[in-house]
Amino acid sequence: MHFQVITLFPEMIESAMNTSIIGRAVGNGIIKLDTVNLKEFSQNSYGSVDDYTYGGGAGMLMQCEPVFQAYQAALSKVENGKRPPRVVYTTPQGKVFDEETAADLAQEDDVIFLCGHYEGIDERVLEEIVTDNLSIGDYVLTGGELPSLVMMDAVSRLVDGVLNNKESAETESFNNGLLEYPQYTRPKEWHEKTVPDILLSGDHKKIEKWRMQQAIHRTAERRPDLYAEWLEQRGIY
Ligand code: SAM
Repeated sequence: MHFQVITLFPEMIESAMNTSIIGRAVGNGIIKLDTVNLKEFSQNSYGSVDDYTYGGGAGMLMQCEPVFQAYQAALSKVENGKRPPRVVYTTPQGKVFDEETAADLAQEDDVIFLCGHYEGIDERVLEEIVTDNLSIGDYVLTGGELPSLVMMDAVSRLVDGVLNNKESAETESFNNGLLEYPQYTRPKEWHEKTVPDILLSGDHKKIEKWRMQQAIHRTAERRPDLYAEWLEQRGIY
């Protein structure tokens, strides 16, 4: 999987992507990361890439040409030239990113992320280059770097070889449309709270059943929207 991130702050992306599990995947080449520094494509001697918005209003807007040239630089580094890469613009106006979208993006060879700043980016260049408008939730951040990192992390976990056996993605929340069941580790007793007996029984069938019941209960309680979808998928209304 080859990620490229068009950004004003490459160091922010590189530092996070070189840490922990994703850092290990970058280190062993399963994930490849390139950043494209927008400032290098400034059209003026000040090195700026933004200007006032037509029609007035507060704030600055990122200009078309630096973004377009940065995109072309990213295109020249695409690994699998057989099909055009997905270009994700991180925006609060996009579809809300979820596990299904992560799984979809994990099928790609190349994904380019475009991080906005200020009031965002001139609409004309977005129309020309963006394939996916994705948001990480209904709130507004100062820039697209954190959303890109969130998405790259979630996608990377689903790429073969990124997680080892101990870190398997198979039983995680959302994998089967439910939240994950509660989990416990040593010691058996802590602050007078004990681990449920069933988990110490060694009876794997019963443990599996208990975990499923807990997952259903937890989903119904914490995410009624998800629970309703899960019921609907099973023809239970
Ligand atoms: N004026 C824009 C609007 O109202 O839709 C918001 C611009 S925001 C201050 C600056 C940049 O942060 C955006 O261009 C986008 O790249 C990023 N951003 C902010 N919130 C986001 C979110 N919830 N999800 C994804 N990206 C976000």
